[in-house]
Amino acid sequence: MVKITVCDDDDECVVVCAPAEMETPFTDNVFEDCFQCGRRIQHRPNVPKGKRICIQCTAISLEEEQEELEIKVTQETMDLIRKRNVH
Ligand SMILES: [Zn+2]
Repeated sequence: MVKITVCDDDDECVVVCAPAEMETPFTDNVFEDCFQCGRRIQHRPNVPKGKRICIQCTAISLEEEQEELEIKVTQETMDLIRKRNVH
């Protein structure tokens, strides 16, 4: 199982980020590249340090049920993932 938890301030965590092209109500988002696929992503300025991963790579990881993958997200992103996983 992949473990997804809401992040405490951990430098080693993997932060799940929204796609850069996604419209958000925020104007101060920070844009970076996914560390796995290089896709342009955005996140809030207050997310913890650590690797940035896009939602697509997160979904692939979840489907493959990689073991030993622990992903940490902010509460905002957790809510977003939950919404996107509802089919
Ligand atoms: Zn990616």
